Amino acid sequence: MRMSRAFLATLRDAPADAEAQSHVLLARSGLLSKLGAGLYAYPPALWRTIRKISDIVRAELDRAGAEELMLPIVQPRELWDASGRWSRYVADGILFHFRDRKEAELCLGPTHEEVITRLVSEKVHTYRQLPLNLYQIQTKMRDEIRPRFGLMRAREFLMKDAYSFDVDDAGLDVAYAKMDEAYRRIFDRCGLRIMVVEADPGAIGGGGSQEFMVVADTGEDALLHCACGYAANAEKADSVPAGAPSGGEPRPLRREATPNVRTVEQLHEFFPDVLPGRMVKTVLYTAVRGEEEEDLAVLIRGDLPINEVKLANHLGADALQLADDDAVRRMTGAEPGFAGPVGLAQGVRLLADLTTRDMTNVLCGANDTDVHCLDVNAGRDFPEPPTVDLRLAQAGEGCPRCGKPLDASRGIEVGHIFKLGTKYSVAMDATFTAEDGTQRPFVMGCYGIGVSRIAAAAVEQSHDDAGIVWPAALAPWHVHLLQLNRKDEAQTGVAERLYHELVAAGVEVLFDDRSASAGIKFKDADLIGLPFRLVAGRTAKDGRVELSARCGTERETVAVEEAVARVRRLLKEALAGNA
Ligand code: ATP
Ligand code: MG
Repeated sequence: MRMSRAFLATLRDAPADAEAQSHVLLARSGLLSKLGAGLYAYPPALWRTIRKISDIVRAELDRAGAEELMLPIVQPRELWDASGRWSRYVADGILFHFRDRKEAELCLGPTHEEVITRLVSEKVHTYRQLPLNLYQIQTKMRDEIRPRFGLMRAREFLMKDAYSFDVDDAGLDVAYAKMDEAYRRIFDRCGLRIMVVEADPGAIGGGGSQEFMVVADTGEDALLHCACGYAANAEKADSVPAGAPSGGEPRPLRREATPNVRTVEQLHEFFPDVLPGRMVKTVLYTAVRGEEEEDLAVLIRGDLPINEVKLANHLGADALQLADDDAVRRMTGAEPGFAGPVGLAQGVRLLADLTTRDMTNVLCGANDTDVHCLDVNAGRDFPEPPTVDLRLAQAGEGCPRCGKPLDASRGIEVGHIFKLGTKYSVAMDATFTAEDGTQRPFVMGCYGIGVSRIAAAAVEQSHDDAGIVWPAALAPWHVHLLQLNRKDEAQTGVAERLYHELVAAGVEVLFDDRSASAGIKFKDADLIGLPFRLVAGRTAKDGRVELSARCGTERETVAVEEAVARVRRLLKEALAGNA
């Protein structure tokens, strides 16, 4: 492609809303164009990258035995009512939905479990037609609450979504393992360094769920991991917390005036002898399930945070809201900051984290403004609540496998594989005739890859101060050919010859044949970040060109006759595994 003809224009400044380096660099290099919040056009260069990602995804899914299809973006409400997800997605605000001219309600698909379940249940009647794995690479629409980081969290984006259908759990295990393997190959071929982590399996629990994370500081997910191989999304992670001092034999309960003392830190200042690990925090929530709301109080050791994902899963809640001031007054009869387990209002559901189980003589709120209680004991001063694991694991706590301290990183989720089991098939009455003649629900898995997000994640993982450093497999073109001075005939001769030879040899080349200055050309080449660079400059009159790699600092001059062969050899090495 000649740059003088290409629909490609670099920008001096990044858009004001670009926070992540990938967003800045993709926008500045002219590879990304914003249309509205979370809505982007993919200009030709970016589309080349996205097509390469799609090709890799396709090749590996086909190799794993999956079949590609294409499902409608527009989906009838009735399907989402059947799965029970319509009202939750609407309440959540994530669903783009509308009415057609006949007043029928429709949505733009944020995901396709419903559509595929209906389709398969109509076409597949017996176990003989199973297993199946069907996928598409298609536009998804989600009205994200906070679209940001460019392609990373868009409202319209490209996803590969695959769905497996099996006769039983053993079949699902095989399908899941195949996808796990295919995903590792895909990300490897894309040139991404990935951490595979255990993921939150949602309220249906059980099964298995893994996320494929590109480790990067701008990642929106918190990850905890250990040298022993344990790695989990912090939402899902387990850990062994540091122990807290024991409380000893129960003592009589005492009430103390604590004017304006509300937080754990303030309490520790007020009662210097009582460490946060000897306090019990009472966190109040409103749990939302469908149309219902429930008042909830959660007890946890004072020095530990609650994992709201675990909590919502345990409750089967659609959403959890921290209680607002009015709700706090309703539940405790006191101003915010003095909640405790003793004497909560009727009807408030009480739950406790496992860490509180053996605590005695604790310090907690008194449900009375400006008052706290000391030496409170569960079972004696308030009914013993059910205890569940509700704690958010943190870096430095013990690895659940080997006990060594956990490390923390941030990650960008580029893929997710998930054993759904029979959640959708049961809800949507999607069954087949099993070998023994009974009707059984399909056992399903779903497997997503953020195709457009990968382009951003690759840049996030691979760039320097001057610009993008594309992994060879994803670069829009492989070689950037620069002619420094368009008026120099020797340079024109060399550059035009190389351009034609490279094209003839099937090498993807971007040819900077513009009449801009050499400085601009070098700057743009650094910014766009193609893996190899050939420069027709001062040495052109001697029949030589300069060859360099974007990721290195070395330059060599090679004879024009040898340049193409040399570039092809380098490319072959850089693309090993992507033949
Ligand atoms: P997230 O937790 O990042 O919101 P998710 O868990 O809701 O993602 P899935 O439903 O698992 O996403 O979608 C499969 C893949 O699609 C994700 O792993 C991610 O790579 C990609 N993806 C999800 N939401 C977006 C988005 N708003 N923009 C771009 N890619 C996305
Ligand atoms: Mg996910």
